[in-house]
Amino acid sequence: MPVDSELLDILVCPHCRTKVRLYGDAWLICPNPDCRRKYPIVDDIPVMMIEEGDKYIDTPPDQLDITKISLDTVGKP
Ligand SMILES: [Zn+2]
Repeated sequence: MPVDSELLDILVCPHCRTKVRLYGDAWLICPNPDCRRKYPIVDDIPVMMIEEGDKYIDTPPDQLDITKISLDTVGKP
């Protein structure tokens, strides 16, 4: 189990404070239609950074590719 369900219960989008939803075991998606930020889970760690979520606002969930993301690339443009 990659991310603890109790942890998931308390995780909110750092931008709009909406509770995020787990997607494909590798992403946390903000369901707020005005936000739509998506946060990757890298090495079992949810990366809840606004600047990281910003990168995937316009990426449809089925096109999110966790394999391109590592702890070396998060938080960098
Ligand atoms: Zn949000």
